Amino acid sequence: MALEPAAVIARSPLQGQPQEDVGELVQMALDVAGSLDPREVIARILERGTHAVQADRGTLSSLVDDHIVVEATYGRAGELTWVGQRYSLDYFEGQPLVKKAIESLQPAFGGRLALEKAAPEFRQALANVRHVAVLPLVHGGNVIGMLVFSRYEEKPFTEDDRAPLTLLSAISGLALRNARLYEEGEAARLRADETAARLRAAVDAAEDVASQLRLDQVLGRLLERASASVGADGASLARLEGSEMVIESTPTGELVGTRWPLMPMVVAGVSSGRVVELSAAEYTGAPPGMESAVQPYRRFLVAPLAVGGETIGLLAMAKAGDEPFDPAAVQSLQQFSTLGALLLRNARLIEQTREAEQAKSEFMSIAVHELRAPLTVTGGYLSMALEGAFGELPKSLRDVLETAQRKTEEAKTIANELLTVARLEGKVLTPRVGRVLVRDAVTRAVARARPRAELVRASVQIAGGTDLAILADEAMVGKILDNLLNNALTYADRPPTIRVGAQLDGQQVSLTVADDGIGISGQDQGRIFQRFTRGTDRLVTEKPGTGLGLYLSRGLAEQMGGSLQLQSSQAGKGSTFVLRLPAAGS
Ligand code: ADP
Repeated sequence: MALEPAAVIARSPLQGQPQEDVGELVQMALDVAGSLDPREVIARILERGTHAVQADRGTLSSLVDDHIVVEATYGRAGELTWVGQRYSLDYFEGQPLVKKAIESLQPAFGGRLALEKAAPEFRQALANVRHVAVLPLVHGGNVIGMLVFSRYEEKPFTEDDRAPLTLLSAISGLALRNARLYEEGEAARLRADETAARLRAAVDAAEDVASQLRLDQVLGRLLERASASVGADGASLARLEGSEMVIESTPTGELVGTRWPLMPMVVAGVSSGRVVELSAAEYTGAPPGMESAVQPYRRFLVAPLAVGGETIGLLAMAKAGDEPFDPAAVQSLQQFSTLGALLLRNARLIEQTREAEQAKSEFMSIAVHELRAPLTVTGGYLSMALEGAFGELPKSLRDVLETAQRKTEEAKTIANELLTVARLEGKVLTPRVGRVLVRDAVTRAVARARPRAELVRASVQIAGGTDLAILADEAMVGKILDNLLNNALTYADRPPTIRVGAQLDGQQVSLTVADDGIGISGQDQGRIFQRFTRGTDRLVTEKPGTGLGLYLSRGLAEQMGGSLQLQSSQAGKGSTFVLRLPAAGS
């Protein structure tokens, strides 16, 4: 681009001009084109041009839309004055010389400009002028400005001046245009950089905000990032409830839970779906008792939080000062409002799910309690009958009652398991953690399993490591070991050998229950810890069971900060389960 003025010179009608004139103009072209700062270019055009055409004063104006802006004026004595004044084009309509230059796109010469039509502040200066040359600054066939050179002496501009003046106007037009384009390009690049930076900030903020786990922290972080990006002094996030908003989050936690009426301008803003800028009165009105909370702030930027076409809340930024928010702030708040809306919606969903879970667990607890009472009564009567409390029983009746008693016991076990599930899932099962000796927990569990072990002629061995101690809830550990031993005794097709052992494993103690029973197929291994899930082996399905034992045991282990896993298993060869719990220091 910088080469263009030189190209113009090559094509210019300068042939025949004295060599030094050409030299001076080439020098000037290079000089003028050497800068891309519009002010610098204007200064060089005026300084070099005024001398080159032997004028006493040069004035450069730009044509912007339907206005003329007088940029600067330069006097031969060496002073350059920046003017920056805007005038309507009408002023120049009254100047035939200007009109002629602009319409013909050619330099126009004449006596001084019409005094009575000139802007009052120029009249004084114009009074001294004898001769004037008006040069249109043309680019792409359009006038983008003009240069006016004046001579104070009786030395008119002549046809001899036309060639250098035409050249000067071409050089100046191009140089000015280049500088303006460069300036626009720079501004556009700057805007693009700013937008990119804002987007990056929004992505950063989204990552940062989403990395918080608790809702109040998530919203707090969102407000923090949004305020910083918008340059706000205060901020709040509210959910909408009918004709009110309820504050969900503020940076200090102040006002959370308070209700505010929705003012008409807010309602209008919400329905437009766009960010609106409001005064304190327009945003909050003056709800009684809340004036002091709004008092520090004069201006608010309010973004509706919308998801799926529904506005569910408001994100508001507040400023203590009176000056309006930066337009970039409006754009950046729009991005934060999208994030805010999603967070608020997710928070609602999570809360609803939690409430539903809670309700379900409560229902299950009540239902199981109601079930257990009659089962206990029935079980009691059956025991009494079988013990002969109601007289000698015929064999056939005894058989039936024995089956009924077994089934009642199974039903009680199921009811107990369901109750534990309900408590575990309702998060009402809090472990009472203490120091537990592994030996105690294991020997007691083995003792409880003894009757069943004898029934199936099992051998239960306690291996080493039982002098270790764990930090756990003794009753919970007992329940887990009962489940594991019970399964080991149940899922075997011949009298099983069961080994219970313990060993220190870093900060944890690993308790293992290994059997040589039927094992678990690879396909079942991935499912057995799920709720109500049982193995698919025929030997499993023909035995009674709920598919809750491992699910519950793992839940209990996790409640105590431990874990329960199937360490290894092979169909037909047996299984080893490992329960890991925090070790208690000696
Ligand atoms: P349930 O015993 O009531 O079926 P569990 O949750 O205790 O429920 O066990 C789930 C399934 O895991 C069992 O149905 C069985 O298929 C398998 N399983 C558990 N322990 C063993 C074991 N020691 N040997 C073989 N299979 C087992």
